[in-house]
Amino acid sequence: MAELVDHPCVQHKLAIIRDVDTGHKKFRELATEITMFVCYEALKNVPTEKSTVETPLGTADCRRISADLVVVPVLRAGIGMLDGILDLVPSARVGFVGLYRDEDTKRPVSYYERFPPQVQGGLCIVVDPMLATGGSTVAAIDALKANGADNIVVACIVTCPEGIALVEEKHPDVAIYAAAIDERLDDNKYIVPGLGDAGDRLYGTSH
Ligand code: URA
Repeated sequence: MAELVDHPCVQHKLAIIRDVDTGHKKFRELATEITMFVCYEALKNVPTEKSTVETPLGTADCRRISADLVVVPVLRAGIGMLDGILDLVPSARVGFVGLYRDEDTKRPVSYYERFPPQVQGGLCIVVDPMLATGGSTVAAIDALKANGADNIVVACIVTCPEGIALVEEKHPDVAIYAAAIDERLDDNKYIVPGLGDAGDRLYGTSH
């Protein structure tokens, strides 16, 4: 299941972040802001528990998030979404997955994994700005499931039909939330029109 976060405020920010003339400082700020909106949707089914709170005027019946939340950025570009989701849920824990692409097999290989034990029983939110081929996202979900996770969602900024199809095929239990579902991948596996290389644009490493 892929859900598009189609709110005008999100789409307005998306128009600016896509722009080739948006520099890395502004790009980072927008990535944080868009992430907050996308993750707001991605967390809409998180379990809550009742709690009562004394206000200055009486007792209010409230709800608080009761699940352990574990945010899992996929290195390196996923780090660009970390501030946004932690602004939304500051007490979330953070795990990491580092992946590189094997040039022979063209498949993602994990070089770093570090997860808090709460991946078991908690809600894990995999964050990666560009869900392109879906290979890295599937590998990150594989790693989480190998560590006992069974409640996982994916939040990204831009995705495309190829990436959604792979995640749906390999992990039909995992929902994807995105600010844009673009047309396709190009020959270099970049999303078109997309926003370019998200890691380079976040960190100012492009030429
Ligand atoms: N990764 C990126 O940074 N951009 C794309 O378009 C695809 C993958």
